[in-house]
Amino acid sequence: MAIERIVIVGGGTAGWMTAAALSRLAEKRTVAITLIESEAIGTVGVGEATIPPIVEFNQLLGIDEREMMAATQATFKLGIQFANWGQVGESYFHPFGTYGYHMGGIAFHQVWHRMRSEGERRPLQIFNLETVAAHFGRFSRTQDFQRDDLPTMNYAYHIDATRYAAFLRGYSEKRGVVRREGKVVDTTLDPESGFVSSVTMDDGTVVEGDLFIDCSGFRGLLIEQALETGYDDWRHYLPCDRAVALPCEREDGSGPAPFTKATAHSAGWQWCVPLQSRNGNGHVYCSEYMSDDEAHDILVGNLAGKPGAEPNFLRFVTGRRKKAWNRNVIAIGLSSGFMEPLESTSIHLINSGINRLVAILSLDGVTQNQQDTYNRLTDKEYRRIRDFLILHYNATARDDSPFWDYVRTMEVPETLTEKIELFKANGQIFREEDELFNETSWAAVMLGQGIHMDGHGPIAASMVVPELKGELDEMEKSVRFAVQQMPSHADYVARYCPAR
Ligand code: FAD
Repeated sequence: MAIERIVIVGGGTAGWMTAAALSRLAEKRTVAITLIESEAIGTVGVGEATIPPIVEFNQLLGIDEREMMAATQATFKLGIQFANWGQVGESYFHPFGTYGYHMGGIAFHQVWHRMRSEGERRPLQIFNLETVAAHFGRFSRTQDFQRDDLPTMNYAYHIDATRYAAFLRGYSEKRGVVRREGKVVDTTLDPESGFVSSVTMDDGTVVEGDLFIDCSGFRGLLIEQALETGYDDWRHYLPCDRAVALPCEREDGSGPAPFTKATAHSAGWQWCVPLQSRNGNGHVYCSEYMSDDEAHDILVGNLAGKPGAEPNFLRFVTGRRKKAWNRNVIAIGLSSGFMEPLESTSIHLINSGINRLVAILSLDGVTQNQQDTYNRLTDKEYRRIRDFLILHYNATARDDSPFWDYVRTMEVPETLTEKIELFKANGQIFREEDELFNETSWAAVMLGQGIHMDGHGPIAASMVVPELKGELDEMEKSVRFAVQQMPSHADYVARYCPAR
């Protein structure tokens, strides 16, 4: 059946990102896109840290970065600083980009390990541009220097997600997306196919469609409430199920840092996301081990300034919808699952869901194979990210609370155990099935949380030490040179994209 009417239910980040991408795709086609959202219900109101693929998403839409950043109070993000994860008092940085570069076809951390065994004492982190720039609070695009011998800077954004959705709303409406304000109160299924044929709004309006995108958030209005798709509950692996969010002003007058902070507490962790004029903060915790009041008090006790709003308490169940695409409904955003915000993967999953949809969708009709492929790839992506998140909890020496005792000793998926064992043996990390996180990400978290490599593989072992030393010296020099040329992140943002 040809797709002529697409209905998006929900206008949070997921709804408007989807609307923007589809309106771009459909520019030259005759497809009507309607988005329904309810101001009375509102959005989840959190979600500020992103990862690098969002830069490309905006570029694909032809969005002017400066304009978007100014409109969303955005800053640049070079990675995440993790404190108190492996041990209380320790910290490490998970950077975007890579450590060094591939040498002789192997990941740099293996070469570094080889050099350690030859007496090299420089830490791995100094061979990563983003880590060093973040450490000194600097930022610039390496292309600003107009030199091609410098490493490329990888970055994402910290954004006010509510403003980002509003920005994309403007973009989408200009391209013909029709927004309808009001609550969806009923869903009608076709009696023969079981497909959703229309939704009914609280003013009685019936909105018919050929394809429905469920962006209604945790409630999964179409995918779950209407189609009863089912949900895989992953709380046994990722037990945090609550969060309290609270923005604050930076009272010390400091500028925004170019990285997110994730500080572990006794039954969860706290985020700090620096926007241009404030920090977004929140405490993610496990209700089995911590009360809401306790979580709130810990958060307030660890803010960089006075709270700038009332606390926003949220509940969630980590996991994913059994099928992201069921009949003629595709769940994108929180309606398709949520794996907690530790590595800022949720907006990314919206982005990759949209990419897959745009690649697979044919407006002349959808085949079962296309739908199955979409579901299979989504499932794999969720599982790979899930394993990476579990690693942060499980690879710890913390034994100072029942929460850490649980996550340290819990059973983890075999796919993760395999990954850890391979790494321990000789630092090998296979990036499987196009998985999101690269060797540097896995190595950063494993080494950062106390998993050690016992060896470094035969290729690294066969490398000539004096030559390697020369290469490491060069790498360190080029990273240091690039960072020295950079202005402070705060100055760069103030000049490039001051908030409107
Ligand atoms: P929502 O924002 O909940 O939007 C749902 C939409 O559906 C709203 O417009 C609502 O009005 C509409 N709606 C619902 N029911 C109806 C109805 N009956 N009729 C009409 N409209 C309806 N992601 C990141 O990438 N980085 C982060 O740092 C991050 N931090 C997070 C922290 C926490 C604690 C949580 C819970 C999430 C975080 N996320 C983060 C996830 C991120 O917030 C979401 O992925 C993102 O905001 C998308 O949400 P959504 O659009 O799917 O849902």
